[in-house]
Amino acid sequence: MKEKIKKFMNKDMKRSFKLQKSNKNQIKCPNCGYEGIVKKYIKGSVGIEIVLWLFALLPGFIYSIWRLNSRHEGCPRCGYEYVVKK
Ligand SMILES: [Zn+2]
Repeated sequence: MKEKIKKFMNKDMKRSFKLQKSNKNQIKCPNCGYEGIVKKYIKGSVGIEIVLWLFALLPGFIYSIWRLNSRHEGCPRCGYEYVVKK
């Protein structure tokens, strides 16, 4: 009985892993024709963010919001922002 559960769990885990893999944000870039996995871009840097937070709360807060808003996906080859999801 226990073995059966174990086997079932294993199967299930493998399946969900496969699903994750196949859902790995495949894109097509209309700019350079790249096809494959999307790259995530975030502007700014964590270092600046930490320094700002340490010295002044408000600029740190604004910087964090700006970074979150700047987060986007793009083509890993040419950096084009408006890629088409497959
Ligand atoms: Zn591209």
